[in-house]
Amino acid sequence: MLQALRTQLGLRIPLHSGVRANLGKNMENLEFLRKLQELGVSFCMSIPSPAGGETHMATPEELVKFPDDPIALYASHYGVFKSQYLSWANEEFSVRCSAKTRKGKRCKAIVKGGYNVEPSRWVKLTGEYCVIHSEGLE
Ligand SMILES: [Zn+2]
Repeated sequence: MLQALRTQLGLRIPLHSGVRANLGKNMENLEFLRKLQELGVSFCMSIPSPAGGETHMATPEELVKFPDDPIALYASHYGVFKSQYLSWANEEFSVRCSAKTRKGKRCKAIVKGGYNVEPSRWVKLTGEYCVIHSEGLE
């Protein structure tokens, strides 16, 4: 069974026993979650957002990977890369101006329409300038 799985996944490197055990466990969990889904159970979860939380209907495949990498699921919910999701969260959901001040520091002003935005909008507005810098006032 594991050998078959290994072949299926195209793994050429030898798996050490810990990884093997994890794969086996994940497969068991996946089968269990799929069974629940077939029986009408849905997996409703909350994704962190500026407004407090967004509902996400998770699939069994997403759930087995979730404990090891929650950020990957959050990012995929919003349709952005993990690195973009993390930057968005680090910048407190707002897009800061890309200009540098005369002192050489990054301008801290928020770009127009860039306050508390969704990750996809954050990605779109990144690289823009605040009102002052977009008009070349400084
Ligand atoms: Zn600025």
